[in-house]
Amino acid sequence: MDSLKFGEHTTIRTPNGLKLSIWQKLRDLFINEWFSSIENSNKELFYRIFKTDVGLEPYFKNTPTSLVYYRSTLKLRTRNHRLPIETGRWIRTPQNERLCLNCNKLGDEYHYLFECSIFDNERKDLIKRYFYYRNPSTLKLQQLMNTTNKHELLKLFKMFKSFY
Ligand SMILES: [Zn+2]
Repeated sequence: MDSLKFGEHTTIRTPNGLKLSIWQKLRDLFINEWFSSIENSNKELFYRIFKTDVGLEPYFKNTPTSLVYYRSTLKLRTRNHRLPIETGRWIRTPQNERLCLNCNKLGDEYHYLFECSIFDNERKDLIKRYFYYRNPSTLKLQQLMNTTNKHELLKLFKMFKSFY
């Protein structure tokens, strides 16, 4: 319980104040542990690009009608897909050698969402040009993945679906 120290300047006057302090401390510890666990995981590289805080994702707050899109999104986020970045892991190919067979670039989610010509048609239909046309970046990927616009989310789900 060393990590539950409240510091010299914390004064707790009531039982409810103590409960609140313990609750806040445990919450802080959980968040620190959670960030640490995703920082140390190679498999979660894509996940940590867009998961910037603890809480329910916009996907699940802004419910599109079809469960198919949830399934696709969960598959992508847990890397339950057949993009080279994941299939290469299954056969222990070094990460930097898990390349797109079409472009010879790293075959990760970023590549297929923003770059790969295999998905040019889907990209034009489903993702705003702003994200991929000029200077695509992980920042834009983060913006796209954190959108709360239902129309944009629905299109993103369809894009994910085209990967399977
Ligand atoms: Zn490609």
